[in-house]
Amino acid sequence: MKLLEGKTVLITGASRGIGRGIALVFARHGADVAFTYRSSEEQALALEKALQAEGVKAKAYRSDAADFEQSQQLVQEVLKEFGRLDVLINNAGITKDNLLLRMSEQDFDDVIRVNLKSVFNMTKAVIRPMMKQRAGSIINISSVVGIRGNAGQANYAASKAGIIGFSKSVAQELGSRNIRCNVVAPGFIETEMTAALDEKVLDEWKAQIPLRRTGKPADVANACLFLASDLSDYITGQVLTVDGGMLM
Ligand code: NAP
Repeated sequence: MKLLEGKTVLITGASRGIGRGIALVFARHGADVAFTYRSSEEQALALEKALQAEGVKAKAYRSDAADFEQSQQLVQEVLKEFGRLDVLINNAGITKDNLLLRMSEQDFDDVIRVNLKSVFNMTKAVIRPMMKQRAGSIINISSVVGIRGNAGQANYAASKAGIIGFSKSVAQELGSRNIRCNVVAPGFIETEMTAALDEKVLDEWKAQIPLRRTGKPADVANACLFLASDLSDYITGQVLTVDGGMLM
């Protein structure tokens, strides 16, 4: 059964990793997919083709989610091209890890801007069209680190915790308009973001995971699929961890 037939989704940061995984699963479920990237043009265009091969409409947009003006313009362009917008997935994110003693102001500001301010920029841009449609699902990608913190990631943890407070507020403000807003908090997912970690750190993480394996982008994508589809019609303001049981 295709769960997203007739729906248009917009995903930020889908040229690789989790965003790419979400785009592929959503296209297989019949969604038309607009997605953004910041610099990986070749990968973005390859994904655009792969999505179109699933028989859906798909388009890649170069757009910096941390930039307010670009985000407003992006949503206008997507609406013009696709005619409607049912689901927004705020996935774009970066890390600039360091112990607080060594963390620069720039590294703090950059991570907050790309990970948290972007969620404000994009959500602000979609709520008017979603209010007009009297329906919408907004899914924000946080992290288990936003819930429990992590040494060496104070900037990242703050941005990901901020997403949770923001999302619950949006869920309360817009519930009466039938706009839902939920958070997915992945644990350890194999992407370029985690590829830099050494074997020892990886083994330490795995030892804390009851399911004894790291996650794949498709694991996160399937949780997003549920929250994007009408199957989750009565669910809003929730944080769904996708972490192999690490945080229970
Ligand atoms: P990734 O492999 O590094 O991919 C990040 C994506 O975001 C890329 O497509 C990148 O585009 C895009 N991006 C970065 N900055 C952007 C900006 N300013 N505007 C638009 N797009 C931008 O990361 P990932 O592991 O898939 O992570 C995706 C999300 O999941 C992030 O929010 C991350 O914090 C969260 N998360 C990941 C894990 C994990 O274990 N991997 C765990 C918990 C949460 P370019 O390719 O063009 O740079």
